[in-house]
Amino acid sequence: MNKDTEKYIWPGVISHYRSWIKIDAAAEPVTLLEGNTPLIRAANLARALGGEIELYLKYEGLNPSGSFKDRGMTAAITQAVADGAKAVICASTGNTAASAAAYAARAGLQCFVLVPEGKIAAGKMAGALAYGAQVINIQGSFDDGLAMVRRAAQESPIILVNSINPARMEGQKTAAFEICDVLGDAPDWLCLPVGNAGNITAYWMGFSEYYLAGLSRKTPQLLGVQAEGAAPIVRGSMVERPETVATAIRIGNPARWQDAVAALRDSKGHICAVSDAQIMEAYHLVAQSEGIFCEPSSAASLAGLKIQLQRGDLALQGKRIVCVLTGHGLKDPDSATATIAAPVVIAPRMQELWQVIGYKN
Ligand SMILES: *Cc1c(COP(=O)(O)O)cnc(C)c1O
Repeated sequence: MNKDTEKYIWPGVISHYRSWIKIDAAAEPVTLLEGNTPLIRAANLARALGGEIELYLKYEGLNPSGSFKDRGMTAAITQAVADGAKAVICASTGNTAASAAAYAARAGLQCFVLVPEGKIAAGKMAGALAYGAQVINIQGSFDDGLAMVRRAAQESPIILVNSINPARMEGQKTAAFEICDVLGDAPDWLCLPVGNAGNITAYWMGFSEYYLAGLSRKTPQLLGVQAEGAAPIVRGSMVERPETVATAIRIGNPARWQDAVAALRDSKGHICAVSDAQIMEAYHLVAQSEGIFCEPSSAASLAGLKIQLQRGDLALQGKRIVCVLTGHGLKDPDSATATIAAPVVIAPRMQELWQVIGYKN
């Protein structure tokens, strides 16, 4: 290998941040070279949201299985292999299932995933099946599934890889490190969707650790965003039947609820809820103003930022803000095709083409 190119080759999040990741130090990483996702300046979107802000998008949809879950899964599966596991299990709204299936395949482990029947976006189901997981549809919610896999892991040698698994947090916090490494400091605000609340917990761990080590001058304020129909943390009480188009955050009883509340408090942050209509508006806006396609749950962070800019009670104007786009738009193609006018159909004749496009010399 050329000595100059060596430093440009990304080894995955465990190897890149090895001394920070509290998993078995001797474990050989199970990696698909996740992480190192782009932090994209989004000036068009900032204007469209109505903010005099320095806005960046952390495009986590570019991870190997299409969501940020891969950061945590590389660590969880690496630790599971080090512990001698033969099989892993999780409950999922879709992306955890696809990620667990991919990393389990890489490690040669059996993988069981429980998903709420009919509530999984097409691309997530396709991934989980393609990577060879045993997919189990449950006639219930994510929260029902999580309760079941917790028991399954207690009463068998199967390892649980939901975000209550501490290794998941160790991997996921690397997104905070990457943001600081690129910007040279933490941003003023970090804005992200909140479902089971593992991600907000992990980001706060990462930013806090970098700050304590002197690698950033501050920690960001966190702006968490839930969907109105699935907003237990905003409301302060469990939601029995959560409902939202943003299926990745369709969770009524987050496993990391208390950790999220602590992170919001310690960061002097805020959590708010947005409607499905606001989520879909932001989903189209980022795709059409920046050419970045994310799934509806990811767009919740943008919708939350927009309503907070409008309300004006958080000090957001003039600030450097990072919005986390948690998953790729191709995960959920139906959300795009169902909400945008179908393509026009024409006969293969130039006259009809000119009629549609309008331009002609
Ligand atoms: C998992 C997920 C979330 C929610 O993250 P939590 O850690 O459960 O709060 C948001 N968006 C996408 C795309 C996800 O896959």
